[in-house]
Amino acid sequence: MASNSISLMWRGIQQRYNLIGTKCKTCGQAFFPPRKNCPKCRRKGQIEELKFSGNGKVFSHSVVHAPPEGFENQVPYIISLVELEEGPLVTAQIVDCEPSEIQIGTKVKKVFRRVSEGGKSGIINYGYKFVLDR
Ligand SMILES: [Zn+2]
Repeated sequence: MASNSISLMWRGIQQRYNLIGTKCKTCGQAFFPPRKNCPKCRRKGQIEELKFSGNGKVFSHSVVHAPPEGFENQVPYIISLVELEEGPLVTAQIVDCEPSEIQIGTKVKKVFRRVSEGGKSGIINYGYKFVLDR
């Protein structure tokens, strides 16, 4: 494998684990997943990398009772659209709480957890989830 593809892969892992996106220095808007250009400033936009704090609040959520493969032992679980304090919305699972504890605006923070045991391959995927910021 060429060193270039290894570094690209590593970059992808870093983004998934650390919530790394980008930000437009010109207007201040943050993007996740990362964007290479700002839709508002276009050519005037200056894009830089941004590591999100991982703090946010619940924008909307739903409780999943019929899971996709690999999530069977986790039902019911909560999938939420989380509004990061920097602005972007991310979709993530909220763990370690009851659905009744979650409302729009509930404060949450990112944790690093196992996401799924990938079916037949047995590969365990890790990534970010959110817990209540109690
Ligand atoms: Zn901009």
